[in-house]
Amino acid sequence: GKATMEKITSLAKRRGFVFQSSEIYGGQNGAWDYGPLGVELKNRIARNWWKEMTQLQDDIVGLDAAILMHPRTWEASGHVENFTDPLVDCKKCKTRFRADQIPPENLAAKKCPECGGELTDTRKFNLMFKTHIGPAEDTANIIYLRPETAQGIYVNYKNIIQSNRMKIPFGIAQIGKAFRNEIVTKNFIFRTCEFEQMEMQFFVKPGTDVEWFNEWKKRRWAYYEKLGVNMNNLRWHQHGPDELAHYAKDAYDIEYLFPMGWRELEGVHNRSNYDLTRHTEFSGKDLQYIDQEANNERYIPFIIETSAGLTRTLLMVLSDAYDEEKVADKGNDDDWRTVLHFHPTVAPVTVAILPLMKKDGLAELAQDIRKELKEDFATDYDQSGAIGRRYRRQDEAGTPFCVTVDYESKENKTVTLRFRDSMEQARVPIAELGERLKKEIKE
Ligand code: ATP
Repeated sequence: GKATMEKITSLAKRRGFVFQSSEIYGGQNGAWDYGPLGVELKNRIARNWWKEMTQLQDDIVGLDAAILMHPRTWEASGHVENFTDPLVDCKKCKTRFRADQIPPENLAAKKCPECGGELTDTRKFNLMFKTHIGPAEDTANIIYLRPETAQGIYVNYKNIIQSNRMKIPFGIAQIGKAFRNEIVTKNFIFRTCEFEQMEMQFFVKPGTDVEWFNEWKKRRWAYYEKLGVNMNNLRWHQHGPDELAHYAKDAYDIEYLFPMGWRELEGVHNRSNYDLTRHTEFSGKDLQYIDQEANNERYIPFIIETSAGLTRTLLMVLSDAYDEEKVADKGNDDDWRTVLHFHPTVAPVTVAILPLMKKDGLAELAQDIRKELKEDFATDYDQSGAIGRRYRRQDEAGTPFCVTVDYESKENKTVTLRFRDSMEQARVPIAELGERLKKEIKE
């Protein structure tokens, strides 16, 4: 692709997808703000995932658990002990590095890759953000910002079995914020200290876990296909023995070819019965499942997890959609366009209504059409500048459809429907516009 991180970052800022956090104060490292187009895109990606993982799945229900959890949660999960990165600092230039991200020869020689100064010993640094709850700042009051959403699901699994009469196999889906005290220097929103996850935990009977693991690998791959992602830019990466997390029996990442290379987008993990065994141990509560259909057989379920970053998916969607194209059709405009080929179900604006002229009642007619459409679609309205330039602006925002209102519209109640990707145009009766758009989005 033609997308570089620089181009994407600059387009994101220029068009109001993503801004640096607290920019007027020089920015806050590892945090970003989602502007008008960005929040729409993010919400739509989230809604799309939610639909796929709840509405379209008979055996998955949703949850929205708190970010603040009992501190014992993170002892049980292993995060207090194991959720660390190896860090080194340069004694001279004070730059901080993840030891596994600098060249091994620098690490061995304790030589800073930036300035050649001496590096400190490698030490373990826990990634959880820690703060205090209540007025006293002592160790009894320590509380963590959750570093993943999954634990909120595990601690609620019995509640949900009881309240919703769930039977194994079943899943619980959740979207929410997570926080990690990461060292972030580059790559835009790829790795941030505050981010959002879309996670689903699927509870299965031991012995059926391998089968379900393969099934979820299939379903998650199909999801990206349906989202219209260029599948040449996706691949599986199986974790080797040294990469496997302490809880995992088997783990695959779905990797995407980001502008800076292949990187993890989503993890599909077989977490075995680690999580519920540990929570049983630490809470003293019996978290066994009682299988009423099999003589009340009791067991701790295995968990298959699909864990995707929402904000990281947004970066993937932006990179995947980005294109610069030579366009031959317009003599009156510059003949390059930047276009975001978003899938219509995630595009921030679905349809823009553009009156050819403001005068002679065209603006009023266009406003009437917008009013009709906005109940069902995300709309935009633009009446300023040459029509070719307005199309370019919508292309750059990734709007899949433009409706142009011209003099003919007044006479025969039709408009021009312009398609972003092909740039083709069709004449459509105003009365049929809504149905036509719905049909186009479905295809
Ligand atoms: P990495 O190895 O990149 O640090 P991880 O293997 O720790 O990631 P998981 O704990 O498996 O990641 O988290 C699941 C998903 O959450 C990741 O695939 C990614 O999409 C997202 N994610 C994790 N950490 C971050 C972060 N700091 N910023 C944005 N997204 C993240």
